[in-house]
Amino acid sequence: MKKLVAANWKMNKTIEEAISFVKEFKKIIKNEKNAEIIICPPFTALAALSKELKNSKINLGAQNMHFEDAGAFTGEISPLMLKDIGCKYVILGHSERREIFNENDFLVNKKIIAALKHGLKPILCIGENLEQKNQGKTKEVIEQQLKNCLKNIDKNEISKITIAYEPVWAISRGNPNHKAATKEDAEKGHKFIRGVVEKMFDKSISKNIKIIYGGSMKPENAKELLSMPNIDGGLVGNASLNAKSFAEIISCAN
Ligand code: PEP
Repeated sequence: MKKLVAANWKMNKTIEEAISFVKEFKKIIKNEKNAEIIICPPFTALAALSKELKNSKINLGAQNMHFEDAGAFTGEISPLMLKDIGCKYVILGHSERREIFNENDFLVNKKIIAALKHGLKPILCIGENLEQKNQGKTKEVIEQQLKNCLKNIDKNEISKITIAYEPVWAISRGNPNHKAATKEDAEKGHKFIRGVVEKMFDKSISKNIKIIYGGSMKPENAKELLSMPNIDGGLVGNASLNAKSFAEIISCAN
């Protein structure tokens, strides 16, 4: 299966910085055919990058969206608008949206349904926080998130969804020295997620769904994480802000 590697820039980069990243990245990226590459800049840089990425193999994604098509929702962006600007992917349910902006599984589920309706491919983020991990609740939390977020999703649509397993305790929050999950722990989580997807849908869906890892992935650990059997790619925050380190991560996705 072709690996999928997505950059989540969070609230970073001006338009000029985003363009200069892409110009450098396009020059240094080597095996772009081996991985599906996605860049998710802040909303303000989407239009500029949509132009910059035209005729390249690099896809554009957004970091969030509202579930309605249009209306009185001050400050929000709709799936129609993301399609209009050239997005193919959208990150939904990121732990920062959940923790800081109080998003819950039920809202994330509405967003996934809306994204699919408009032909956007959701990257659904799930994962336990440190407290839940310490209480031994990792599996329970992941299973509940999957059940809630994937509720009422048509079986035929599931292949359009990528699941990002992001143990919240492994997310760098901008600290380049933060520790990722070990490849064994990450693999355990991914295998469990695949099992839950099988229970919810069927074996073929669970075999084919992409489950990517997020949380302090960087050039130093990408190879070992990406070589695990159930890890189909990565969602990369901090290390995707630099064109060289993001390109190095992608070169590990063989
Ligand atoms: C993220 O928050 O999606 C993420 C993976 O961040 P980082 O790589 O910085 O841990």
